Amino acid sequence: MLEETPNSVSVQLDGVDRSYANAVRRFCIAEVPSMAIDDVVILENSSVLYDEILAHRLGMVPIKTDLDKYVLPEKCDCGSPLGCSKCRVLFVLDASGKEKVSTVYSGDLVSEDREIRPTSEQIPIVKLALGQSVKLEAYARLGRGKEHAKWQPATVAVLTDGPTEGSFVLMVESAGGLPAKKIVLKAIELLEEKLKEIQVSVGAKAE
Ligand SMILES: [Zn+2]
Repeated sequence: MLEETPNSVSVQLDGVDRSYANAVRRFCIAEVPSMAIDDVVILENSSVLYDEILAHRLGMVPIKTDLDKYVLPEKCDCGSPLGCSKCRVLFVLDASGKEKVSTVYSGDLVSEDREIRPTSEQIPIVKLALGQSVKLEAYARLGRGKEHAKWQPATVAVLTDGPTEGSFVLMVESAGGLPAKKIVLKAIELLEEKLKEIQVSVGAKAE
């Protein structure tokens, strides 16, 4: 561990191949799941934004992620397209223009799980004029960066040569949903799992 802040981490990797170090970097971006809004049911929208744009903006809001409490929808035993309390979190937004022009922020989203909420309450979603209103239900789910950029847990993952021969430095910056250290540890765990799957599928003994 070279440096650690709540949102970023720099680690030195010794005694590994460049391809392994780069695989860890790629897993930080594309394989470690994080939470993002994926389905939006618009009940009312008289704002200037189309429903689709509103839903897209909500999808890009970084959300606090708990990988111990929630599972990927495809791995959940509920098997329901609507999801259950283990694979989705419901957010409700009910806002209307009370002053001349008011702004709806990410902090106005009310979550059914207090721990799962936007990482910042200050992200503007839409502006409302007097009399305009937005009412919607939004469902957040775990997903992976390889499916859509909104599920990338890391905004930056850079691999550089380390100070000694054959060592590497991996710097990871979190989007805010997960601590950067957790992203790196999870990436290594998932990479190990995949390597074991390969060993088993080619008939070798998994050790
Ligand atoms: Zn479920």
